[in-house]
Amino acid sequence: MSVNKYLSWHGNEWRQLWDAPAGLPHALLLAGPAGVGKSHFAAALVQRILCEAPRQAADCACGECTSCRLFAAGNHPDFRHVIPEAEALEAEGEGAADAADKKKASSQILIGQIRALESFVYIGGHLSNRRVILLEPAEAMNPSAENSLLKILEEPPAGVCFVLVSDRWRRLLPTIRSRCRTLMFGRPGAAEARQWLAAQGGEKALPLLAMTGGAPIRALDEFEKGRMKAFEDVASSLFDNGGDFLALAGRWESHLKKDGGFKMEDIVAMVQKGLFDLAFLAMTGRLRFFEGRERQAEAIAARADAGNILGYYGELLRARALASHPLNPRLFLDDIAARYLRAIAPARP
Ligand SMILES: [Zn+2]
Repeated sequence: MSVNKYLSWHGNEWRQLWDAPAGLPHALLLAGPAGVGKSHFAAALVQRILCEAPRQAADCACGECTSCRLFAAGNHPDFRHVIPEAEALEAEGEGAADAADKKKASSQILIGQIRALESFVYIGGHLSNRRVILLEPAEAMNPSAENSLLKILEEPPAGVCFVLVSDRWRRLLPTIRSRCRTLMFGRPGAAEARQWLAAQGGEKALPLLAMTGGAPIRALDEFEKGRMKAFEDVASSLFDNGGDFLALAGRWESHLKKDGGFKMEDIVAMVQKGLFDLAFLAMTGRLRFFEGRERQAEAIAARADAGNILGYYGELLRARALASHPLNPRLFLDDIAARYLRAIAPARP
């Protein structure tokens, strides 16, 4: 029987949760960067809350009771997993939904999905009185869904636990955040992350570890989705390009178009990491995200103006919010490429 486990580097967060004298809250927010293991933790947590025979308070679920069996089979009557429709279709796999359905499917969590929980939370549980709702990613809720959830959280029914998982928790309504106990999740140490990745058979994904900011689950996921080449090429383009912004934007665009390719936000994030590394290199003599490209980066950093680099880094932080829905993706990329090249251009003597 399968038992869901949190990842080894989140042992402190796990114990913190079960050792709290007040017991489990009605709502928990698992917050932290993408790809560090929050979903593993959430699955372990949900199974453990519902488990009928946990051995010790701070142990994982038993994996053998009726509840654990139902959970493993994916049809526990006292559990609801709320995710955006688009992700549900993707999880069903190729061919399960036609292209038109996929296009229509929302990438948000909608108010109807939250309203549908009402009958579930206000009626007692089936196996015990416990019921658990996992909202993932919580920031995918649109404003009306958030308001609808807030109404439930204001007077939470006994025995109900909401688990919200979020990479971008600052986007959640402050009133929702204030009703949750927040657990912050960090990245594993570099050695531990490499070890985990290798143990999953992801040795080849190791170069992605630094590029994803030390998030091993994200690195493995990108590798399995076949995005290694895209990452490598965008990384190369940052330090080795002919200085022509149209060519640079075109190179990035080619990775957007392919099925399963980059999202616009991924490109913006990569450009941002490139600028970070150029500034980091000037200060520390090494690269954080793009290890192995020191030689090309040094050539740029030696001639560029550090103020321009940091200035554009700040601008991109704001541009990232717009990146999910640019009116014209190509113009958006042209603009980013032109400004990136200006930021890294040799400083005037
Ligand atoms: Zn169990």
